[in-house]
Amino acid sequence: MRVLIVEDEARLARNIAKALRETASYAVDISTDGEDGRHQALSNPYDLVVLDLMLPKVGGLEILRDLRRRGNRVPVLILTARDSAQDIVQGLDTGSDDYMTKPFDMGEFLARCRALVRRTYDRPDPVVRVGELAVDISSRVVTLRGRPIPLRAMEYRLLEYLALRAGQVVSRAEILEHLYDFNAETFSNVIEVHISTLRKKLDAGSPGTLIQTIRGLGYVIRETPV
Ligand code: CA
Repeated sequence: MRVLIVEDEARLARNIAKALRETASYAVDISTDGEDGRHQALSNPYDLVVLDLMLPKVGGLEILRDLRRRGNRVPVLILTARDSAQDIVQGLDTGSDDYMTKPFDMGEFLARCRALVRRTYDRPDPVVRVGELAVDISSRVVTLRGRPIPLRAMEYRLLEYLALRAGQVVSRAEILEHLYDFNAETFSNVIEVHISTLRKKLDAGSPGTLIQTIRGLGYVIRETPV
């Protein structure tokens, strides 16, 4: 999953980004002014936008209005010091999906982010099950036939994305867009490498393979391995 944080308090933005990367395994981009934030939000397929309201150049509500007017459906969580009931109503009525006021609890913030992402992928249950695979996106614990599978951060991020989109063929371009932030250094076969290590861990002792390669199109996880 990939998140955009539009926040002009650089330290707060960094703290949020660190928490999202480390505890939710999200790729994170940061914009520190409204103009850049709007541009980024419109140019990349984010899974979530965390939006401050009082921003240099372009305010958060204006960004939100622009996104929705253009038909952009990205989940938006407003994170702001503006805490009056009137502000909250206005934020939600402008098209935000959630609203949190500063100061805030990081654990609650992260849980709200996960809930918004689950909803985007139409997964109300935090444990995503695909056949005998279970991916708990709250705890990031992966089990196969009840056995825990230890994964590295990028392997987890990739498997979670494929599991959330189970049954659909996911292209390399989509994987790159949704799992890597702007500053990530990717090499040409980075996805193949992660797929290969995931297969070693997931297919051990099984005659089939859980993650199928669809030549020229991408990868898919299905209920029944082949
Ligand atoms: Ca601000």
